[in-house]
Amino acid sequence: MTSPGQPLVEFRGVEKRYSADARAAVTRLDLTVERGEFLTLLGPSGSGKTTTLMMLAGFEAPSAGDILLEGKSLADRPPYKRNMGVVFQNYALFPHMSVAENLAFPLGVRKIKGAAAKEKVDAALALVRLDGLGDRRPDALSGGQRQRVALARALIFEPDLVLMDEPLGALDRQLREHLQAEIKRIQRALSLTIVYVTHDQGEALTLSDRIAVFADGSIQQIGSPEQIYDYPSNAFVAGFVGENNMLSATVVTRQDRQCTIRLPGGQILHAVATGDIAAGDDVVAAIRPEHVQTGDNQPSRCNTLDARIGELVYHGDHSRIRAELDGGGSLVIRTPSRDGIAVSDRLPIGWCSDRCFAFPVPDITGVSTGNRI
Ligand code: ADP
Ligand code: MG
Repeated sequence: MTSPGQPLVEFRGVEKRYSADARAAVTRLDLTVERGEFLTLLGPSGSGKTTTLMMLAGFEAPSAGDILLEGKSLADRPPYKRNMGVVFQNYALFPHMSVAENLAFPLGVRKIKGAAAKEKVDAALALVRLDGLGDRRPDALSGGQRQRVALARALIFEPDLVLMDEPLGALDRQLREHLQAEIKRIQRALSLTIVYVTHDQGEALTLSDRIAVFADGSIQQIGSPEQIYDYPSNAFVAGFVGENNMLSATVVTRQDRQCTIRLPGGQILHAVATGDIAAGDDVVAAIRPEHVQTGDNQPSRCNTLDARIGELVYHGDHSRIRAELDGGGSLVIRTPSRDGIAVSDRLPIGWCSDRCFAFPVPDITGVSTGNRI
C-alpha cells in the first residue's frame, strides 16, 4: 500500500559506475516518480537516461544510493518481481511467436492462462487498435504496428509502472507523432505511471507532465514542460530544450533576480540573473528567436539594439532572420511575417528583459549556441 504523499518511486542519492575506474554514468540522482504521472527523462546521447531506467527496471544495480518502490528498497528485488512493463529500444518481439502469443507470454509467466489470458490478449489488441491481427507474425507487421504490440505486451499484465526507452526512435516522423498521441491516450485512459526516455525535446514537451533534463549523468532541471521551456535554470537546458540565441556578455550590475550585462559591442541589456553570477563575471545571455521583436514601434520591449539583416529565410508560416548586431555577434529571429524587410536592411530589434536570462558560463560540454538559421 502507498501511504498518502508517498511517491511511487524514489531515487535517493543514486550513482552508477560501470567499472571502478570509470566516470559515473549517473551521479547524485535524487528523483521521485508520482503515481499517475508521465515523467520524461530528456537528454543527449550518453547523459545517463538508459542507465537510470535500467536501474529502475532492475537490469543494472546502483553503485551507491537506493531506489524505493512504494517506500520499500528495490535493492534485492529481481526485475520479474518489480511488476514494471518495459518497452526498450532493443527489446524486440519474439519473432517465432504470433502477436497473440507474444502478448500472452507475460501472462503465462504470471500463471494467467486459458480463457482469462485470451480475454486479456483481445483487450490489449483493442487498446492499441490492432484488433484481428493476433494471428500475424511480427515480420508481417509494419514498424509502427510492431511498436504497438510491444506497448500492448508491456501493459497486458497491468503493471504499476511502465518504462519506455526511445520506443518511437526508429519510426518516421508522421508515425512517431501518431503513436505519441496513442501513448498519451492510453496513459490517460488507464491512469498509467510512465517513465519515458527520449533525446527528442519536442517529444518530451508534447507528452510529459514533468521533464527531467539530463546532462553528464545528472539532472540539470526537473519541472513541467512550461517551466523547463520558459524558465530554464541553466545554459545547458536553455540550449537543449527549444531554441535559444546564446550571446556572450559580461555582468555590469546585479540586484537579486535582475542584472545588467554588456555585449562585446558595448550594448547594455537587462536580463534575469540566474545562479551566483556577480558584477564582472562572464555570462551567456539566452533569448529565444520568437521573443525577439522587430521594427520601430514595440511598446513592450525593454532591451533595444540596432541590427542589420544578414540573412532571411522564408518558411511559409513564419520567417527566420539572422540579425547582425552592431559591434559583432548575431542572433536568429523568428517572425510571423517578412513584409517590408529585406537582406541588408537596418532593423531595430528588442525584447523584454524577463525573456532574457543571464547564465553562468556552462561547464558541460556540448551546450548549443543556438545561432543557426
Ligand atoms: P543515454 O541513454 O542517455 O544515451 P546511457 O545511460 O546509455 O546514456 O550511458 C551513460 C554513460 O554510461 C555513457 O558514457 C555510456 O557510454 C556509459 N555506459 C552505458 N552502458 C554501459 C555499459 N553497459 N558498460 C559501460 N559503460 C556504459
Ligand atoms: Mg539511451
